[in-house]
Amino acid sequence: MIEVSNLKKSFGALDVLKNVSFQVEKGEVIAVIGPSGSGKSTMLRSLVHLEQVNGGSISVDGEYLVKDGVYSSQQGIKQVTAKMGMVFQHFHLFPHLTVRENLELAPRLVKGESREDSQKKGSELLQRVGLQDKADVYPANLSGGQKQRVAIARALMMNPAIMLFDEPTSALDPELTGEVLQVIKQLASEHMTMIVVTHEMGFAREVADRIIFMDHGEIVESGSPDQLFHQPRFERTRAFLQRSL
Ligand code: ADP
Ligand code: MG
Repeated sequence: MIEVSNLKKSFGALDVLKNVSFQVEKGEVIAVIGPSGSGKSTMLRSLVHLEQVNGGSISVDGEYLVKDGVYSSQQGIKQVTAKMGMVFQHFHLFPHLTVRENLELAPRLVKGESREDSQKKGSELLQRVGLQDKADVYPANLSGGQKQRVAIARALMMNPAIMLFDEPTSALDPELTGEVLQVIKQLASEHMTMIVVTHEMGFAREVADRIIFMDHGEIVESGSPDQLFHQPRFERTRAFLQRSL
């Protein structure tokens, strides 16, 4: 479903992504792990065109976002990025809008959905993340875990085929991570295609079909949770896991 090949990205003299290649099958859940600064966020952000890469290709369902470093037309870029929903570490909710308004804004504005349709979908999704009673509350009056569940519901409002999560629980107090991971697990059980950057090794082991380990802008190795956690092929992976478990 997603095909990434030889992706390159630098910030000035710093090579942040060096020939990153991987594929994601429909319905697969991929966990991306690796030290801080290894390029995980840059990789995810490149998939949704929040970063412009310097080389390589990204395609979703056979449609290119960028091919050999050349970007598709504005229309093509929109088509590809519309297939993906992204959830950030720091939620990025609109503070001046209620929960319901946060959810309904993009479908109404971007897709021209009717008020009726977006309200209906909004109510369904709030129910799904267990926040039906928070529809008229402002983000400032929510806990971090609740904010993140709203952010997930908001991303789902656009009916993405793929969900990307960039350390969705890293900004949360430990007692609030479970409620967010539970929502992601639920999506996994419904066979949503997902890439989850995470420090939660237990979660990665439990939910991911495949784990990708990144270090210094490279994919060092990838494999099943069992293979990666129990028989890492590289010393770099072993050392990282030892520090993280
Ligand atoms: P990770 O998510 O794995 O912690 P990032 O993708 O955020 O890593 O960052 C990878 C490297 O790129 C880091 O060295 C970071 O400082 C650098 N970097 C990220 N964004 C920028 C930017 N906008 N400008 C300059 N350097 C950046
Ligand atoms: Mg990051």
